Order: sequence, then structure tokens, then C-alpha cells
Amino acid sequence: HHCQGHRPTYVEIDLAALQHNFRQARHQAGDGCALLAVVKADAYGHGADRIAPALQQAGADLFGVAMVEEGVELRRVGVNRPILVLGGVYPGQEPDILANQLVPVIFDLETAYRLNTLALAEGRKLSYHLKVDSGMGRLGFRAEELPATLTALAALPGLAMDGLISHLAVADDPTHPLTAEQVRLFREALRLVRAAGFTPRHIHLSNSAALFSQQFPECNLVRPGIVLYGGLPAPDFAGRLDLQSVMSFRTAVAQLKDIPAGTGVSYGHRFIAERPTRLAAIPVGYADGYSRHLSNVGEVLIRGQRAPVAGTVCMDWTLIDVTDIPCVEVGDEVTLLGRDNGQVITAEEWAQRIDTINYEVFCQISKRVPRVYL
Ligand code: PLP
Repeated sequence: HHCQGHRPTYVEIDLAALQHNFRQARHQAGDGCALLAVVKADAYGHGADRIAPALQQAGADLFGVAMVEEGVELRRVGVNRPILVLGGVYPGQEPDILANQLVPVIFDLETAYRLNTLALAEGRKLSYHLKVDSGMGRLGFRAEELPATLTALAALPGLAMDGLISHLAVADDPTHPLTAEQVRLFREALRLVRAAGFTPRHIHLSNSAALFSQQFPECNLVRPGIVLYGGLPAPDFAGRLDLQSVMSFRTAVAQLKDIPAGTGVSYGHRFIAERPTRLAAIPVGYADGYSRHLSNVGEVLIRGQRAPVAGTVCMDWTLIDVTDIPCVEVGDEVTLLGRDNGQVITAEEWAQRIDTINYEVFCQISKRVPRVYL
């Protein structure tokens, strides 16, 4: 057993489910549309060193990361497709871009000047994607900045625009009028870019939500992240997508104890037993990404049955009320997230309990929890 010699707390990653989800995204994108797999933040907590090679094997055309460091890591594990750095290139990171053939997204001219200087010094022409702010209000050039920006970029012989990118703020809400306005501004940006003599190959807007709800004929690349991991882009996609969950988070019962009615449990005694109660201590806590907000509200699966969290989640330990589950023993598997004997705790359910989104549930499972790949 893979827990032999280890604390029995681990994340299980189902690579076959990942590949199933990839095929759904590929099918939805259709022929002639490139697929960029978003594997930033350690592949949303799933482990980019294993996820990216698996997606490369499945046929991902490009990869997207948030940081130069993440792009360097993908090269180290054998990714040989183009890697787009969606976030910033900070001073001193330019050599890593060039040495690892990373493709920066440019959203400020200072970065463009620094990259141009180094590219020229090395006798190279560096491809980049230009970021347009069409309404996200985060990164990118706004419409009124574009003419001057394009003039400045045209004067940089070390750089070559290979893509035009923008990001949608409300793609998960198909009724929101902002998306149409973003598309209109993006089209206008594309027109200006082409009129200025640039010929970007990749034109892209869509995250997972947009990929599964919108058609953008001017685009020829999509950038799904969450759906690859089996997560819904928003709760109302439930039942409309054929996805399989990739991540399960498991541990095992470390200790059992019986307490009389009236006994207080864990920090702050925020749980007081109302009846004679059997508690199971499980070796997982907020330091593992088992959120403290799950205190008294989380549920886990043991022997295919739900059991509630009793009291405050500690740094390394959580207590579970197993009074209603017969025959629980030390060593029994406990599922915090994922499937167990036909029952399931989804990231969406977990997220709803603690007022966040599935993305954060995946990303917050900490590095000290080993990832085990099926
Ligand atoms: N594109 C950009 C620029 C992003 O920042 C992200 C993730 O936040 C994605 C695409 C992928 O989004 P999603 O995981 O919703 O598919």
C-alpha cells in the first residue's frame, strides 16, 4: 500500500479522468481550434509535473502558466509544446524566458522593452501574445491605449506578436451583457492590430465557462483550466457537462474514543456532545488545506457513509462524529473529497459549505500532502 511508511493523508489523482475531461474539451473546441491547457498553480493543485506530461500525451497543443517559474518547471519535466506565461515577466526573468522558449503575455511596455533588449542581444526574435483589457479590468491594454502601444511595439525588432489574448470577467453567466461588450472590444482590438501590420496567429478569449457556452468565430484557440480537472466553471453547468472528478483527498482514522453526553471537543469547545458520542481523530487539518471554515460544518465519507466534523478543525487534526456509523476501526479510509462506495463529496459541495469556489478548494490543498497518481 502506498501509505506504508507515511502518514495516511494523501491526494489521489486519476489521470484517466483527466484524459477523459481533456477529450470533452477537445471535442467542444472542434476542429481547427488549438487547445491550450491551463496548468498554472501546480495544475490547480493536481501536480503540474505529472498533469502537464499527461495532457501533452493526450494532445494539448499549448500550455498556460501564471509564472515564469512554472514554465521553467514544465520544461524540466519534458513539456516540449509552446508554453504561454499568462502572468508577469519580472526584471531578471528575461533570460529564463529565452532559455526555456517561453512565450510571454505582454501587458505593459516596460516588459516589452526589457525582453526586446535581451532578444536583440542574443540575436533572437521572441514571440509574444498581446493582452487586451476588454472588460476584466485586470491586465492588458485598454482600447484607448492600443494605437500608441502598437506603434511602440512595431519599433521593437526583437519581438514578434504571435497572439492576441483577452480574458472574460463574467463568462460563467451567459445572461450577463458584459461578455458581448468584451467581444466587441476584442474584435476592435484585433482590427487595430491587423491594421498596424501585425499578424498574430493565435486569437483567444475563452476559459472553460466560455468554451462550453459561447461561440467566438474570430478565435482559434481556447484556454480551459477547471474543466480539465473535472470542476464545473460555475454551479449552473451541473448536468450539462460530461466530466469526471480527477482529485480525491483521503486519510485514515488514527484514533477512536467514546465520550459521554455533555463533553466538549477541540479548541474552543465549539462542539458539545448531545449524546454519548464516538469520535474519530483523522490526521488532517488546515495546514493540509482542510479549511478551518469546515469546523462543525464539513462532512467526510467513511465506509460509504457521511459523518460530520465535530468542533474546530486544528492545524494537523480533525475530529469526526462516527456515532452513527457501525464498526468503524482505526485505519479505516476517510474520504474528504471524492468518491467512496458510490457516495461522493464534490469540490463544489465543499466550496459551497465554506463560501468559496471549487478552484480554491483544489488550490489550497497544501504541498505537504503527497499526490498519488492512478
Ligand atoms: N485564461 C486565463 C488568462 C486565466 O487566468 C485562467 C484561469 O483563471 C484561464 C484561462 C482558465 O480558466 P478556467 O479554469 O476557468 O477554465
